[in-house]
Amino acid sequence: MTHSGLIPVDLGVDIAAWFTTAQFDLADETGRAALAEATGLSLAFASQVHGTDMAWVLSPPDNQTTAFVYANRPSGDPNQPPATSQPAAQAETKHHWLGRAFHKHLDQAPPKCDALGSQVRGIGLVMRTADCVPVLLADPEAGVVAAVHVGWRGLLAGVIQSAVAAMEAGGAGRHQIRAAIGPAICVDCYEVGQDVAGQALAGGHQVKQGPAGGAWLNMPGSTVSQLEQAGARIIEWIDECTAESPRLYSWRAERTLSRQGGVVGLPADRSNETDQRHAGQYAANDLP
Ligand SMILES: [Zn+2]
Repeated sequence: MTHSGLIPVDLGVDIAAWFTTAQFDLADETGRAALAEATGLSLAFASQVHGTDMAWVLSPPDNQTTAFVYANRPSGDPNQPPATSQPAAQAETKHHWLGRAFHKHLDQAPPKCDALGSQVRGIGLVMRTADCVPVLLADPEAGVVAAVHVGWRGLLAGVIQSAVAAMEAGGAGRHQIRAAIGPAICVDCYEVGQDVAGQALAGGHQVKQGPAGGAWLNMPGSTVSQLEQAGARIIEWIDECTAESPRLYSWRAERTLSRQGGVVGLPADRSNETDQRHAGQYAANDLP
Protein backbone atom coordinates (compact mmCIF):
# COMPACT_ATOMS: atom_id res chain seq x y z
CA MET A 1 0.00 0.00 0.00
CA THR A 2 1.67 3.23 -1.09
CA HIS A 3 0.07 6.51 -0.08
CA SER A 4 1.87 9.70 0.83
CA GLY A 5 -0.06 9.94 4.10
CA LEU A 6 0.98 6.46 5.23
CA ILE A 7 4.30 5.44 6.78
CA PRO A 8 4.46 1.65 6.33
CA VAL A 9 6.08 -0.49 9.01
CA ASP A 10 7.04 -4.12 8.68
CA LEU A 11 5.81 -6.04 11.72
CA GLY A 12 6.14 -9.37 9.95
CA VAL A 13 4.48 -11.82 7.65
CA ASP A 14 0.80 -11.13 7.03
CA ILE A 15 0.64 -8.05 9.27
CA ALA A 16 -0.57 -4.70 7.89
CA ALA A 17 0.77 -1.70 9.80
CA TRP A 18 1.23 2.00 9.17
CA PHE A 19 1.68 5.24 10.99
CA THR A 20 -0.18 8.16 9.46
CA THR A 21 0.63 11.81 8.85
CA ALA A 22 -1.49 14.96 8.93
CA GLN A 23 -2.74 14.01 5.49
CA PHE A 24 -5.43 12.02 7.33
CA ASP A 25 -7.10 13.95 10.12
CA LEU A 26 -8.36 11.08 12.24
CA ALA A 27 -10.38 13.43 14.44
CA ASP A 28 -12.58 13.93 11.41
CA GLU A 29 -14.99 11.46 9.81
CA THR A 30 -13.70 12.31 6.33
CA GLY A 31 -10.14 11.53 7.38
CA ARG A 32 -11.18 8.27 9.02
CA ALA A 33 -13.06 7.18 5.89
CA ALA A 34 -10.08 8.07 3.70
CA LEU A 35 -7.80 5.99 5.93
CA ALA A 36 -10.16 3.03 5.74
CA GLU A 37 -10.13 3.26 1.97
CA ALA A 38 -6.35 3.62 1.76
CA THR A 39 -5.68 0.66 4.04
CA GLY A 40 -8.50 -1.60 2.88
CA LEU A 41 -9.40 -2.39 6.49
CA SER A 42 -12.51 -1.87 8.62
CA LEU A 43 -11.17 0.55 11.20
CA ALA A 44 -11.84 0.25 14.92
CA PHE A 45 -11.28 3.29 17.12
CA ALA A 46 -11.18 3.81 20.86
CA SER A 47 -12.31 6.65 23.06
CA GLN A 48 -8.89 7.25 24.57
CA VAL A 49 -8.81 8.07 28.27
CA HIS A 50 -5.14 7.80 29.31
CA GLY A 51 -5.75 4.54 31.15
CA THR A 52 -4.31 1.04 30.92
CA ASP A 53 -7.23 -1.08 29.67
CA MET A 54 -7.27 -3.02 26.41
CA ALA A 55 -10.48 -3.82 24.54
CA TRP A 56 -10.56 -6.74 22.11
CA VAL A 57 -12.27 -6.19 18.80
CA LEU A 58 -14.11 -9.43 18.11
CA SER A 59 -16.08 -8.56 15.02
CA PRO A 60 -16.14 -5.87 12.33
CA PRO A 61 -19.32 -4.02 11.37
CA ASP A 62 -21.74 -6.03 9.26
CA ASN A 63 -25.18 -5.50 7.77
CA GLN A 64 -26.85 -5.80 11.14
CA THR A 65 -24.61 -3.49 13.10
CA THR A 66 -22.83 -0.24 12.57
CA ALA A 67 -20.44 -0.72 15.45
CA PHE A 68 -17.74 -3.17 16.31
CA VAL A 69 -18.14 -5.83 18.94
CA TYR A 70 -15.79 -5.23 21.82
CA ALA A 71 -14.87 -7.26 24.84
CA ASN A 72 -12.50 -7.02 27.73
CA ARG A 73 -11.22 -10.52 27.03
CA PRO A 74 -9.85 -11.92 23.77
CA SER A 75 -12.53 -14.62 23.69
CA GLY A 76 -14.36 -17.03 25.89
CA ASP A 77 -15.80 -16.87 29.34
CA PRO A 78 -14.15 -14.35 31.63
CA ASN A 79 -13.76 -17.01 34.29
CA GLN A 80 -12.01 -19.43 31.94
CA PRO A 81 -8.69 -19.16 30.14
CA PRO A 82 -9.14 -17.79 26.62
CA ALA A 83 -9.60 -20.52 24.01
CA THR A 84 -7.02 -19.49 21.48
CA SER A 85 -5.50 -22.75 20.34
CA GLN A 86 -8.55 -24.31 18.69
CA PRO A 87 -10.20 -22.06 16.12
CA ALA A 88 -13.49 -23.98 15.94
CA ALA A 89 -13.89 -24.15 19.68
CA GLN A 90 -12.93 -20.54 19.92
CA ALA A 91 -15.59 -19.43 17.45
CA GLU A 92 -18.25 -21.37 19.30
CA THR A 93 -17.22 -19.96 22.62
CA LYS A 94 -17.10 -16.49 21.21
CA HIS A 95 -20.67 -16.61 19.93
CA HIS A 96 -21.85 -17.98 23.23
CA TRP A 97 -20.03 -15.22 25.02
CA LEU A 98 -21.28 -12.60 22.59
CA GLY A 99 -24.87 -13.66 22.92
CA ARG A 100 -24.67 -13.64 26.66
CA ALA A 101 -22.71 -10.57 27.42
CA PHE A 102 -21.65 -8.47 24.49
CA HIS A 103 -24.75 -7.53 22.57
CA LYS A 104 -24.92 -4.43 24.73
CA HIS A 105 -21.71 -3.22 23.13
CA LEU A 106 -23.25 -3.16 19.65
CA ASP A 107 -24.12 0.20 18.19
CA GLN A 108 -22.49 2.00 21.05
CA ALA A 109 -19.63 4.41 21.14
CA PRO A 110 -16.09 3.05 20.97
CA PRO A 111 -14.77 1.60 24.22
CA LYS A 112 -13.01 3.86 26.67
CA CYS A 113 -9.50 2.45 26.60
CA ASP A 114 -6.00 3.11 25.34
CA ALA A 115 -5.24 -0.24 23.74
CA LEU A 116 -7.15 -2.29 21.19
CA GLY A 117 -6.35 -5.90 20.39
CA SER A 118 -7.67 -8.33 17.81
CA GLN A 119 -7.25 -11.77 16.29
CA VAL A 120 -9.78 -11.17 13.53
CA ARG A 121 -8.93 -10.57 9.87
CA GLY A 122 -9.91 -7.42 8.04
CA ILE A 123 -9.93 -5.12 11.07
CA GLY A 124 -7.56 -2.20 11.47
CA LEU A 125 -6.95 -1.14 15.06
CA VAL A 126 -6.36 2.60 15.31
CA MET A 127 -4.89 4.79 18.04
CA ARG A 128 -5.00 8.55 17.52
CA THR A 129 -2.22 10.86 18.68
CA ALA A 130 -0.81 14.38 18.41
CA ASP A 131 2.36 14.24 20.60
CA CYS A 132 1.61 11.04 22.54
CA VAL A 133 3.30 7.87 21.32
CA PRO A 134 1.40 5.48 19.02
CA VAL A 135 2.63 1.90 19.43
CA LEU A 136 1.77 -0.99 17.11
CA LEU A 137 2.31 -4.56 18.29
CA ALA A 138 2.04 -7.89 16.52
CA ASP A 139 2.79 -11.54 17.07
CA PRO A 140 2.66 -12.73 13.46
CA GLU A 141 2.92 -16.40 14.42
CA ALA A 142 -0.02 -16.28 16.82
CA GLY A 143 -1.99 -13.85 14.67
CA VAL A 144 -2.52 -11.34 17.47
CA VAL A 145 -2.22 -7.58 16.93
CA ALA A 146 -2.63 -4.53 19.15
CA ALA A 147 -2.46 -0.74 18.97
CA VAL A 148 -1.57 1.30 22.05
CA HIS A 149 -1.79 4.99 22.94
CA VAL A 150 1.04 6.04 25.25
CA GLY A 151 0.77 9.48 26.83
CA TRP A 152 2.56 10.45 30.02
CA ARG A 153 -0.31 9.25 32.18
CA GLY A 154 -0.52 5.91 30.42
CA LEU A 155 3.23 5.52 30.43
CA LEU A 156 3.38 6.06 34.18
CA ALA A 157 0.30 3.91 34.80
CA GLY A 158 1.77 0.96 32.87
CA VAL A 159 -0.32 0.81 29.69
CA ILE A 160 2.53 -0.89 27.82
CA GLN A 161 2.93 -3.71 30.31
CA SER A 162 -0.84 -4.05 30.45
CA ALA A 163 -1.14 -4.34 26.66
CA VAL A 164 1.64 -6.91 26.37
CA ALA A 165 0.07 -8.98 29.17
CA ALA A 166 -3.32 -8.78 27.44
CA MET A 167 -1.79 -9.96 24.16
CA GLU A 168 -0.21 -12.85 26.01
CA ALA A 169 -3.61 -13.74 27.45
CA GLY A 170 -4.91 -13.67 23.89
CA GLY A 171 -2.41 -16.27 22.72
CA ALA A 172 0.62 -14.17 21.79
CA GLY A 173 4.09 -15.22 22.85
CA ARG A 174 5.59 -12.39 24.86
CA HIS A 175 8.96 -12.75 23.16
CA GLN A 176 7.39 -13.10 19.72
CA ILE A 177 5.80 -9.67 19.97
CA ARG A 178 7.22 -7.18 17.49
CA ALA A 179 6.80 -3.47 18.18
CA ALA A 180 6.78 -0.29 16.12
CA ILE A 181 6.92 3.15 17.76
CA GLY A 182 5.44 6.02 15.82
CA PRO A 183 6.07 9.76 15.65
CA ALA A 184 5.74 11.56 19.00
CA ILE A 185 6.97 14.67 20.73
CA CYS A 186 10.70 14.54 21.40
CA VAL A 187 12.27 15.08 24.79
CA ASP A 188 13.54 18.58 23.96
CA CYS A 189 10.04 19.76 23.04
CA TYR A 190 8.29 18.19 26.02
CA GLU A 191 8.96 20.18 29.15
CA VAL A 192 6.89 18.95 32.09
CA GLY A 193 6.13 20.22 35.56
CA GLN A 194 8.02 19.05 38.61
CA ASP A 195 5.11 16.88 39.71
CA VAL A 196 5.09 14.89 36.47
CA ALA A 197 8.89 14.79 36.37
CA GLY A 198 8.98 13.47 39.94
CA GLN A 199 6.44 10.73 39.18
CA ALA A 200 8.29 9.79 36.00
CA LEU A 201 11.64 9.58 37.77
CA ALA A 202 10.10 7.51 40.55
CA GLY A 203 8.77 5.13 37.90
CA GLY A 204 12.19 4.76 36.31
CA HIS A 205 11.35 6.74 33.18
CA GLN A 206 13.67 9.01 31.23
CA VAL A 207 13.68 12.62 32.39
CA LYS A 208 16.19 15.27 31.35
CA GLN A 209 16.77 17.91 34.02
CA GLY A 210 18.07 21.40 33.27
CA PRO A 211 20.38 23.49 35.44
CA ALA A 212 17.63 26.03 36.17
CA GLY A 213 15.23 23.38 37.44
CA GLY A 214 13.34 22.59 34.25
CA ALA A 215 12.49 18.99 33.37
CA TRP A 216 11.75 17.28 30.08
CA LEU A 217 10.09 13.87 29.79
CA ASN A 218 11.35 11.52 27.09
CA MET A 219 8.14 9.75 26.13
CA PRO A 220 9.41 7.95 23.02
CA GLY A 221 12.61 6.79 24.73
CA SER A 222 10.73 5.66 27.81
CA THR A 223 8.24 3.81 25.61
CA VAL A 224 11.07 1.93 23.92
CA SER A 225 12.50 0.98 27.32
CA GLN A 226 9.14 -0.21 28.62
CA LEU A 227 8.54 -2.33 25.52
CA GLU A 228 11.96 -3.93 25.81
CA GLN A 229 11.44 -4.61 29.52
CA ALA A 230 8.09 -6.20 28.68
CA GLY A 231 9.85 -8.62 26.33
CA ALA A 232 8.84 -7.13 22.98
CA ARG A 233 11.28 -6.68 20.15
CA ILE A 234 11.58 -3.19 18.69
CA ILE A 235 11.36 -3.44 14.90
CA GLU A 236 10.86 0.18 13.95
CA TRP A 237 10.98 3.55 15.65
CA ILE A 238 9.85 6.52 13.56
CA ASP A 239 11.96 9.03 15.47
CA GLU A 240 10.27 12.16 14.14
CA CYS A 241 9.10 14.91 16.47
CA THR A 242 5.45 15.91 16.15
CA ALA A 243 6.17 19.43 17.43
CA GLU A 244 8.90 20.00 14.85
CA SER A 245 7.71 18.12 11.75
CA PRO A 246 5.43 20.08 9.40
CA ARG A 247 3.71 16.87 8.27
CA LEU A 248 2.53 15.93 11.78
CA TYR A 249 -0.04 17.32 14.19
CA SER A 250 1.12 18.54 17.59
CA TRP A 251 -1.06 19.49 20.53
CA ARG A 252 1.86 21.12 22.34
CA ALA A 253 3.01 23.16 19.33
CA GLU A 254 -0.30 23.93 17.63
CA ARG A 255 -3.04 23.33 20.19
CA THR A 256 -4.81 21.44 17.43
CA LEU A 257 -7.63 18.98 17.92
CA SER A 258 -6.59 17.13 14.75
CA ARG A 259 -4.96 13.73 15.09
CA GLN A 260 -2.67 11.37 13.22
CA GLY A 261 -2.04 7.89 14.52
CA GLY A 262 -1.18 4.27 13.88
CA VAL A 263 -3.14 1.37 12.42
CA VAL A 264 -2.39 -2.35 12.60
CA GLY A 265 -4.35 -5.37 11.46
CA LEU A 266 -4.47 -8.79 9.89
CA PRO A 267 -5.33 -8.30 6.21
CA ALA A 268 -8.63 -9.75 5.05
CA ASP A 269 -7.14 -11.83 2.26
CA ARG A 270 -4.00 -13.87 2.11
CA SER A 271 -3.54 -13.76 -1.62
CA ASN A 272 -0.64 -15.61 -3.20
CA GLU A 273 0.76 -12.29 -4.26
CA THR A 274 0.75 -10.99 -0.72
CA ASP A 275 2.31 -14.15 0.60
CA GLN A 276 5.10 -13.98 -1.95
CA ARG A 277 5.78 -10.33 -1.24
CA HIS A 278 6.00 -11.01 2.47
CA ALA A 279 8.07 -14.10 1.87
CA GLY A 280 10.63 -11.91 0.10
CA GLN A 281 10.69 -9.46 2.98
CA TYR A 282 10.97 -12.28 5.43
CA ALA A 283 14.03 -13.69 3.71
CA ALA A 284 15.64 -10.30 3.34
CA ASN A 285 15.03 -8.74 6.73
CA ASP A 286 13.96 -11.21 9.20
CA LEU A 287 13.82 -12.96 12.05
CA PRO A 288 15.05 -15.92 13.98
ZN1 LIG B 1 10.98 18.06 19.24
